[in-house]
Amino acid sequence: MSLLEVDSVDVHYGDFQALWSVSLAVGAGHALAIIGANGAGKSTLLRTIAGALYPSSGSVLFEQRDISRLPAHARVKLGIAMVPEGRRLFPSLTVEENLKLGGFVRRAGPWSLARTYELLPLLGPLRHRSAHQLSGGEQQAVAIGRALMSNPRLLLLDELSLGLAPIVVQHLYEVIPDVTLEGGPAELDHTAVRAAYFGIRPG
Ligand code: ATP
Repeated sequence: MSLLEVDSVDVHYGDFQALWSVSLAVGAGHALAIIGANGAGKSTLLRTIAGALYPSSGSVLFEQRDISRLPAHARVKLGIAMVPEGRRLFPSLTVEENLKLGGFVRRAGPWSLARTYELLPLLGPLRHRSAHQLSGGEQQAVAIGRALMSNPRLLLLDELSLGLAPIVVQHLYEVIPDVTLEGGPAELDHTAVRAAYFGIRPG
């Protein structure tokens, strides 16, 4: 059974259509990577799953329940959390205050402040520092921790590596467990990736 199913979703910004009939499914414990060029609609898709946008047609199902019209905060309660592109931290609040806000609406589950600091040990010594004083990688770690504090069953990561040094990216990916790709990475050869970026059909 799929944890998440997106079924034939269209999304508009006013008159502008950003997504055309997108469908996908993610099972519990699985990871799915969405690859596409700038402006292809990756963030729009994640925002639609998180509830910041509603589809104009099609549906979003979570544990087989239609949540297409459910507001974002109610989806957090069901177990959907997002690490948005650009982190979107509260800049004047401390690391710990940002993390606590992530747990303001939460499911029961294993994630706590202590467990978050255990997963992301770089954050412990920074706990009283304002978010605007952090490096990009430190901010991204806070954004991940903030999402985990809600005890999600589905974690949406938007452009996790954007603007970060390769070593920081490597560290962040090390803390995201069990990363697997739908269809398997072996099927994602260079031709398929190029096709996704440039809209070319594999020959
Ligand atoms: P990137 O990799 O650059 O972040 P993306 O694949 O995440 O791109 P989106 O940000 O989802 O793409 O954008 C998809 C399309 O929707 C683009 O054409 C973009 O200009 C448009 N778009 C995004 N946000 C809005 C908005 N708030 N209002 C109007 N159009 C928008």
